[in-house]
Formats: sequence, C-alpha cells, structure tokens
Amino acid sequence: MKIICVGRNYAAHIEELSNERPKDPVLFLKPDTAILLKKQPFFIPDFSDNVQHEVELIVKINKVGKHIQKKFAHKYYSEVGLGIDFTARDLQSQLKEKGLPWEKAKSFDGSAVISNFVQKNTLSNLEELNFRLEKNNTVVQSGNTALMLWKIDDLIEYISKYFTLKIGDVIFTGTPAGVSKVNSNDRLKGFIEDVEMFSIKIK
Ligand code: ZN
Repeated sequence: MKIICVGRNYAAHIEELSNERPKDPVLFLKPDTAILLKKQPFFIPDFSDNVQHEVELIVKINKVGKHIQKKFAHKYYSEVGLGIDFTARDLQSQLKEKGLPWEKAKSFDGSAVISNFVQKNTLSNLEELNFRLEKNNTVVQSGNTALMLWKIDDLIEYISKYFTLKIGDVIFTGTPAGVSKVNSNDRLKGFIEDVEMFSIKIK
C-alpha cells in the first residue's frame, strides 16, 4: 500500500507557515515503512530538533481506480480515520529552500500515525466533521472538513490523475492550523467528534 498526502489544504495552516496558496493540491507520498506500529511510542529522530504534529483526516481506498471522476469518487472509499503526518520542520525548511524533495522530512520511519477506521455511513456529517488533536490534554489543533480547500472527492479525482489508487491505500487530507513541536514525554490524543481515535506517547 501507499500513503498519499495532501499539503496546504486549509487556509489557516497555509498562513501560519507563510506558504503560498496553491493553484492545485500539493501532493507527496510516504512509503509503508513510515507507518507507526499500533500501540508503539513515536521516537523523535536524531536528525531533527523540530518535529511537529499535523493531525489529518484520513481516507482508506477500497477499490482500484485511475482517472476517477469526482462524481464517482465516493464509491472508492467507505472508511475514514485520523492520522498524524509527523514532519521534521527544520529539515523540511532546508529542503524547501534548496528546492529539493521533502521525503527525508516527511516520510521517515514512524512519521505516519494511522488510527482504526470507521465506516463513513455511520457518520452523519462527513462534509462537516470535527476533529482535533490534544497535546498533554490541551487542544492544539482543531479542524472541520468543511474548511478543506479541496474536499475528499476533489482530492480523489486529482490524485488519481497521477497515481493509480489501490485497495488499502490511505490518503492524508491535510492539516488545519496549530502545528507545534513535540517533545519527549508528550502525549498526543486524536479525536473525531468526541471519539478518541489514537493516543501516542512521544519519546
Ligand atoms: Zn500534512
């Protein structure tokens, strides 16, 4: 499986990083080795002094597709969950400055937290779904899918122009504002509405 991530999908997060608002979605990939194993802590890698959390709604693909039209996109996923796109922000800034790919900063081992998934038809409001991240029991990020610049179906149409989507692939749909550095002994808890989706210890 592969993980396709979307950057700059929430206006307030684009502003907090002083990024340009893109004309098209920004895409990058994480390999399957980036997945943080269930119930394992996240170890801050020694190549970064500024690893930041990005909480994101995630979507699991359940059907193979290429050049999927937006009007059919809903048929390609039945489950959503919550993830963290851990980012070595210091390294990413250096790479961006030099115009180099981001993978070392975004796709390292353990950089993808993937929660259990819930059936989308059990959610009454996928178009206006609240999610949040708490760091040490304080809310640091809160998002609502209504604020996404590109909605899930837009993203599936766009991504599948470039990458064939396969069963089990996961899309990270972008992070809302509030990203911040993680430190050892932090505890990160993610919620969709009021349901806890994951709890991760930082080491
Ligand atoms: Zn992200």
